[in-house]
Amino acid sequence: MSDRGFSVQLGTSGLQVSRLCFGTLPMSPLQANLAPEEGAKLLAEAFHRGVNFWDTAELYVNYKYLNLAVKSIQALPVIATKTYADSKERALASLEKARKELDLDVIPVFLLHEQESALTLKGHAAALDFLLNAREKGFIQAVGISSHTIAAIEAAIDFQDINLIHPLINFQGLGIKDGSLEEMLDAVARAEQVGMGVYAMKVLGGGHLLGDVSRAIGFVRQLDYVHSMAIGMSSRDELDANLDLVQGRAPSPSLLHDLAQKRRTLMIEDWCSGCGSCLERCSQGALYLGQEMQRVQVDPSLCIFCGYCGASCPEFCIKIF
Ligand code: SF4
Ligand code: SF4
Repeated sequence: MSDRGFSVQLGTSGLQVSRLCFGTLPMSPLQANLAPEEGAKLLAEAFHRGVNFWDTAELYVNYKYLNLAVKSIQALPVIATKTYADSKERALASLEKARKELDLDVIPVFLLHEQESALTLKGHAAALDFLLNAREKGFIQAVGISSHTIAAIEAAIDFQDINLIHPLINFQGLGIKDGSLEEMLDAVARAEQVGMGVYAMKVLGGGHLLGDVSRAIGFVRQLDYVHSMAIGMSSRDELDANLDLVQGRAPSPSLLHDLAQKRRTLMIEDWCSGCGSCLERCSQGALYLGQEMQRVQVDPSLCIFCGYCGASCPEFCIKIF
């Protein structure tokens, strides 16, 4: 990203976005569970301060927050959403849900969520074809993938019709599932060279790097081939600090100190039945069944606080604070 202005072209997608992308998972019911009006207010404030790029997903169940924010600002931010659809029918349902719940005729960015390799991309070919057709018809502006793997980024490069990628990048390489940080950066740089837009995720390692937030954001900021970075936020303090850091300014020491104290926790309620659904959902291998009571436990050193396990629990046992 280096020292370009705060507003940049997202590859050759034709979209102009802020270098800070507002990650909306932390404010959603899966995490902080802000009231929709409160979340919308924060999004609107971010927009008025130049953050026109907002990241969500069908999984986050927070379209209402974005809908309220769009109505309040009376302008169109670049909203990126994601679907797990693997068929034409499911992709159609995802697109229609997003258009209806966001109250938008055109969705700026639609991504296939959590792609892992050429094989998973092939397995989602029908959904991808549908999204590309919807782009041709003008219902979507850009199509891409999100991924924690190098293999998926390389598969996307081979699939030239994809406009953009949303890869996992942080200075420690936390959460990269199939190789080193250097290999991920090499794949991302090659994707950018063929014209893809790049916006990074997990820049703060899912909260593990909050103690060194200046270095974490500074690292991604100096990567020329990363156009924007999505950072999850649910408070004004986070917005203030991230806006400063993404623009190369130093936030106040007290603000940095407060953010460094903010440790994230994943809590599993006592009523966990040990059914195991969440274990399959965790791609980081952070969950395991404990010996006692057959209740799920988390290894905090592996968890990147993505919140995906919580969405898969039929008993609503998993919460992230
Ligand atoms: S335990 Fe849950 S929040 Fe943590 S990495 Fe796994 S799926 Fe994500
Ligand atoms: S999905 Fe919920 S109930 Fe099932 S093992 Fe996981 S936390 Fe427990």
